Amino acid sequence: MDEQLNLIDTHCHVHFDNYDNDIETVLADSAVAGVNRLICVGCSLKDSQRAADFAKNRAGVWATAGAHPHDGADYLSDPMSADKLKKLLANPKVVAIGEIGLDYYRDITPKLDQEKTLRSQIEIGLDTSLPFVFHVREAWDDFWRIFDSYKGIHGVIHSYSAPPNRLTEVLGRGLYASLNGLMTYTKDESWLEAAKKVPADKLILETDAPFLTPVPFRGRRCEPKHLVETCKFLADLRNEEPAVLASLSTTNAVRLFGLSEESLA
Ligand SMILES: [Zn+2]
Repeated sequence: MDEQLNLIDTHCHVHFDNYDNDIETVLADSAVAGVNRLICVGCSLKDSQRAADFAKNRAGVWATAGAHPHDGADYLSDPMSADKLKKLLANPKVVAIGEIGLDYYRDITPKLDQEKTLRSQIEIGLDTSLPFVFHVREAWDDFWRIFDSYKGIHGVIHSYSAPPNRLTEVLGRGLYASLNGLMTYTKDESWLEAAKKVPADKLILETDAPFLTPVPFRGRRCEPKHLVETCKFLADLRNEEPAVLASLSTTNAVRLFGLSEESLA
């Protein structure tokens, strides 16, 4: 029998309605697989409230709060957004600000609005001691220009998927890199090259469920339990034992997000 891993899914969306019919099973399966703690990431302020409510009475589940770049128009049009975000960040179950960032790939929100949305949330977040969860897609140069105009930001680049030169930029700013199932099926060798190079004290793991289902479960809805496959794939890629990778990523996640020992039932 495989040895049991102890993992934290640092970025999932199991509070989405994709799981409304079987969430208790999803959580139980996660615990059985050794994925004992979950962070439910909010994508809009409304969704963040939902994530916080979902986490409220569940041991081993936490939430983040923030507006994704795709939600920039809504964030900017609501005069209450800043107050709503501040209130969410004061919730004891909310352990990070995010996911926030820039996404020029889908380009759903105009670039300038993405920047305004990001800056507003960075400024609010910096008044707390919470870490940031960043989403950056095809927007690195603008992202660093904005990031570097502030001091004291700590956090993670979620779904890290870029060549090694970007990793150098991430690490140079003290950020963590979070890897997910995308690595198990990407055709981009440079991303895998970077995944090999993430230092042991800066690597964390996530699923981004319901998205980015790892091999061999492509075509199905992603769940936190699938983190085990991603961990095994990356351990093999990095020439490490899965238990070692699990352990270091868990230690890093606990350090970054300040999670307690409590875990899924
Ligand atoms: Zn996500």
